[in-house]
Amino acid sequence: MVESSNNPRDKKLRATGYMLKPLWVTLRTMVRVSLPGHRPRTIMYPWEKSIIPDCFRGRPGIILDKCIACQKCVKVCPTTCIKMVQIEHETLGKVKRPEVNVGRCMMCGNCAEVCPTNAMIVTPEFELASYTRDDLIYDPIKLQHPWKAGYEINYEEQLPSNMKGPAAKKGSMELKDTVCLEAKKCISCSRCEKTCPTGAVKMTDTGEVNEKTKKPIKRPVFDDTKCVSCEMCVDVCPKDCLTMKEAQ
Ligand code: SF4
Ligand code: SF4
Ligand code: SF4
Repeated sequence: MVESSNNPRDKKLRATGYMLKPLWVTLRTMVRVSLPGHRPRTIMYPWEKSIIPDCFRGRPGIILDKCIACQKCVKVCPTTCIKMVQIEHETLGKVKRPEVNVGRCMMCGNCAEVCPTNAMIVTPEFELASYTRDDLIYDPIKLQHPWKAGYEINYEEQLPSNMKGPAAKKGSMELKDTVCLEAKKCISCSRCEKTCPTGAVKMTDTGEVNEKTKKPIKRPVFDDTKCVSCEMCVDVCPKDCLTMKEAQ
């Protein structure tokens, strides 16, 4: 093992070496790239752009007509930079869609991964510099991006194949969480039916009659094929009689 000397002269020599080495590397590279047949090590950004790989994750984007306003992206975002806002759209009318503060976004792609309809996508856009913080708040209209195959992170097809163990189960839409009803607590208010973005909840006659009102008793029935596990019915229930049962 080579022991470093504490002699002041040796220390000075080492310090000089630390300063000269990077200068030598710079000079050597400068000479090399100026020789014929050698390509430059850098590009003239922003006039020249690097080729972005297919798997590049830039800012999130949205396909407005695919979104069902389930808010899963809002719940999953680790930096809480997504919120639902109301917009007036020429074809969709008055709808709620996600707004993203890209200044806070860490480009993790979780929102695109969790979106059940692939409405949220990851785009290759990374040049987001602006003069004000407000410019970094992308409302649903500004957030739109033309769709191209590969921009969505397909929860069903891509993730389970790349993962093993419990994570793979979690990624599979076939093993999604399901809604459980505690029927005794239900007051048949129909809020869950009205709130469900995919129409998976249907208030159904139980065949029983309310003794006081003499009206038929209805209870929600959940269609697991339509449910996207967004938990909006759970959030809206005034009696807390709905819970999510985790996929096994
Ligand atoms: S990419 Fe990640 S941080 Fe950015 S909005 Fe989506 S979930 Fe949030
Ligand atoms: S998860 Fe997808 S469908 Fe649900 S609100 Fe977000 S973008 Fe829309
Ligand atoms: S929101 Fe709750 S109380 Fe109302 S119908 Fe649905 S399950 Fe019953």
